[in-house]
Amino acid sequence: MPRGKRTVFMMQCSACSRRNGTVRLHRQNNKGVGWKDFKKTNKYCGKCRKKVIVKLKEERHST
Ligand SMILES: [Zn+2]
Repeated sequence: MPRGKRTVFMMQCSACSRRNGTVRLHRQNNKGVGWKDFKKTNKYCGKCRKKVIVKLKEERHST
């Protein structure tokens, strides 16, 4: 199994742009869920005090 580069995505609130955590994903995980499916993810935002749709921004890590 090759050591693929993990891509780190930063989750950001679509309403207030608050950084809402990060998620490490391969292009597609072992459940067949591609990272693009996470674009529709709702996550609780502590600033908005409600669940919001998060935006994903790709971050690159060298390790
Ligand atoms: Zn927010």
